[in-house]
Amino acid sequence: MSKVKQLINGNFEFSASADFISVTNPANNKEIAQLPVTTDAEISAAVESAKQAFESWKKVPISERARVMLRYQHLLKENHDDIAKILSQETGKTLEDAKGDVWRGIEVVEQAANVASLMMGETVENVATNIDTYSMIQPLGVCFGITPFNFPAMIPLWMFPMAIACGNTFVLKPSEQDPLTPMKLAELFAQAGAPKGVLNIVHGGKEQVNTLLEHPDIKAVSFVGSVPVGQHIYRTATANMKRAQCFAGAKNHSVIMPDANKQQVLNNLVGASVGAAGQRCMAISVAVFVGESSEWIDELAAKIGQVKPGLWDDKEAGFGPLISPQAKARVLSLIEQGKKEGATCLVDGSDFSVEGHENGNWVGPTVFTNVNAEMQIYQQEIFGPVLCCMRVDSLADAIALVNANPFGNGTSIFTSSGAVARNYQSNVEVGQVGINVPIPVPLPFFSFTGWKNSFYGDLHAYGKQAIRFYTETKTITARWFDDETVSGPNMTINLR
Ligand code: NAD
Repeated sequence: MSKVKQLINGNFEFSASADFISVTNPANNKEIAQLPVTTDAEISAAVESAKQAFESWKKVPISERARVMLRYQHLLKENHDDIAKILSQETGKTLEDAKGDVWRGIEVVEQAANVASLMMGETVENVATNIDTYSMIQPLGVCFGITPFNFPAMIPLWMFPMAIACGNTFVLKPSEQDPLTPMKLAELFAQAGAPKGVLNIVHGGKEQVNTLLEHPDIKAVSFVGSVPVGQHIYRTATANMKRAQCFAGAKNHSVIMPDANKQQVLNNLVGASVGAAGQRCMAISVAVFVGESSEWIDELAAKIGQVKPGLWDDKEAGFGPLISPQAKARVLSLIEQGKKEGATCLVDGSDFSVEGHENGNWVGPTVFTNVNAEMQIYQQEIFGPVLCCMRVDSLADAIALVNANPFGNGTSIFTSSGAVARNYQSNVEVGQVGINVPIPVPLPFFSFTGWKNSFYGDLHAYGKQAIRFYTETKTITARWFDDETVSGPNMTINLR
């Protein structure tokens, strides 16, 4: 069985650890690799290497740092399908969906290649007589990223390319459930010319993350994952005086107005709810039907019920298995609870499997209606192929429902009225809003801006906000004088 390597000080090497985690194929739960739990000594070596590398990397001209990103995006594109295949096999995602995971990460690398124009400071001439003030932004040092299982290409690529393009160095702890994709990304980054120590990869779980969160040489922490872990990481990182950005769970609502284009709504909600087996932080898990649009619920359920899960290379498959038996057991227990709490299960995927792969973590598409806000299937992030349908009387009721929800990652509204859409975009307390667009994940020249319990911190991922997260601003006030402009003593704080 192949053992996964780690990346420390430019070397892709096996760990000295005796402790291993099994990486499995979610379609049959057979082991595909063994992942070492990086030892404390190796974690220290990774941080030390990143610290040393920072001293030289921060001085590399910004245009050369950008060129590394240009070469990297070229290599990622050349290897796009190979990365997607690795990703499919360890996550169970369909090949087409896996390609999307890789592509949305490549877009961030393209943004990182534009780093020079993003790192420009500001200048004001003559803030006082003969005095100019200008600012520059400078990298922080060693940054640390912790990533979830559900986008093993895109989410690591949200983090290290932006941080490194700014002149930082990075230690990544990818999800222990699908580490093969991030290791492939790292190999290509080395091939693109990243010097040793600029990117390090360590493996493991809670203990390894906690060791790094307390490490004095880590300056900033980026996390993507579940709410309890996100809260723990935000609290621990900030208690250790580090800046942190923690992207967490979600419960995303789509509001369907009666004047919406029905076919567009039905088609969009199928993919947005059960695509990727619902394991997307921006998946639509609640459809809120306003007034007469609730007449479409049965048709929507029938359409979702036609989606067939399957193997990653099955072209007919709409989505793959869940990531683990534990994830499957959790989703099944929530489906049972939904039934017990009185929701109507229009499509029940709890007894589904793929022939020849009965041991896989399969859950079929599932649709509930008559869901209310007190039910667990509404309150919890299910993270499975389960859509909850709710009915309200008015747009105001829909907005009140969405705003009362503790999450605020994404939402969408389907309508043909500009006034309704504008009302929704202004008043909904959610960080990313789609108007007739079901999953509004912004492209990287914007930032990924979840709110409320979907995000802890202030500066978000990629775009201009990531540049600010991974840098400090230095402001310089300068006077150059000749004999004629020499000024006398100034006993005040005013610039003269
Ligand atoms: P998770 O929180 O279980 O794990 C995420 C990372 O944290 C992994 O690398 C894991 O090893 C580490 N970790 C787990 N427990 C830890 C602990 N106690 N202390 C320190 N580190 C720990 O999340 P997951 O199951 O891999 O991912 C799914 C979750 O991620 C969902 O809740 C989803 O909504 C969320 N997510 C959010 C976004 C977003 O942008 N808001 C994007 C993708 C995924």
